[in-house]
Amino acid sequence: MIAAKNINITKVERSKLNDINLENIPFGKYFTDHMLEVDYEDGEWKQVEIKPYQPLLLDPSVAAIHYGQSIFEGIKAYKNTNGEAFIFRPLDNYKRFNISAERMEMPQVPEDIFMEGMRLLVSLDNNWIPQQSDHALYIRPFMFSCDHMIGVRPSDKYKFMIILSPSGPYYTTPMRIYVEEEYVRAVPGGVGYAKAAGNYGAAMHPTAEAKKRGYDQVLWTDAFEHKYVQECGTMNVFFIIGNKAITPGLDSGTILAGVTRDSVIAVLKDMGVEVEERRLSIDEIIEAHKSGQLQEVFGTGTAATISLIKELRYKDYVMHFDVDTWKSGPYIKETLNGIRYGSLLDRHGWMEKI
Ligand SMILES: *Cc1c(COP(=O)(O)O)cnc(C)c1O
Repeated sequence: MIAAKNINITKVERSKLNDINLENIPFGKYFTDHMLEVDYEDGEWKQVEIKPYQPLLLDPSVAAIHYGQSIFEGIKAYKNTNGEAFIFRPLDNYKRFNISAERMEMPQVPEDIFMEGMRLLVSLDNNWIPQQSDHALYIRPFMFSCDHMIGVRPSDKYKFMIILSPSGPYYTTPMRIYVEEEYVRAVPGGVGYAKAAGNYGAAMHPTAEAKKRGYDQVLWTDAFEHKYVQECGTMNVFFIIGNKAITPGLDSGTILAGVTRDSVIAVLKDMGVEVEERRLSIDEIIEAHKSGQLQEVFGTGTAATISLIKELRYKDYVMHFDVDTWKSGPYIKETLNGIRYGSLLDRHGWMEKI
């Protein structure tokens, strides 16, 4: 661990917190008083700085803007009823960040900079953690290439940063999902498993088209046959079919390995539900719907937590669900929230105190 004294801290003179009402706050719109910034140059990470949240001054030729060598993470900090602050499974996000970095030919961020820097930043701005249910402090670590040079090659310079955003829920009502079979998000050998900026830019047009048709998000399918489901926006997806929970497997590298996905699998197993991580075709989903076996469909992610899906459309076949009768999705959400806000025992050791 780097000692906290190795992080330079410059505090704001006056907190912006008094100007903001943390109740019913939207997702990702407001940022806290401080941010973390560290530069990578000549093969090493330089001085870690925590300083007042402020704009960056960048050269127009900065590589990340042109070629998208840029990755990020999404983590949440919660406050329990005693006012103690915790971060949910941050080490898992740290590991995934470096997996994304490797795929994008970017330097690994050392654990002490990421973890200790995040802890220090969150504890400095811990008054910004909302205590309302479904609210949290969203932590956004990110890294981008910084060379001033418009040739296509990996940079020598990178910037790693963390910013914090007090946030309410991403989706507030059950979702309508359009099964996508024209555009693709990820292919084996591609970057689907990385939280790389370009994945999200590329998803915007297909998502906008689905929105024009009245849907909130697309459910991606595989690139070859448009047959096997992948994931949904920034969420992994679960289907309760019969007595089993089925979620697409991670083996083809086309799906983001969600920390929430992993947590939901653990909670399902705690509930005694059999979980299958495997290929799941849209035909199997429709068959299950026709035979009355398809009980629940929900998305999982840090930003969205658990999002119930009330409608799923594939071509002209529309599946409607009465989410009010569901048991599993709402129970899992309640369980995860109980662990996060401290009313339930954290049996898996997911909450990291700061
Ligand atoms: C971030 C993300 C998820 C969810 O991952 P969590 O670790 O649960 O937040 C799922 N799919 C995509 C494409 C994502 O970017």
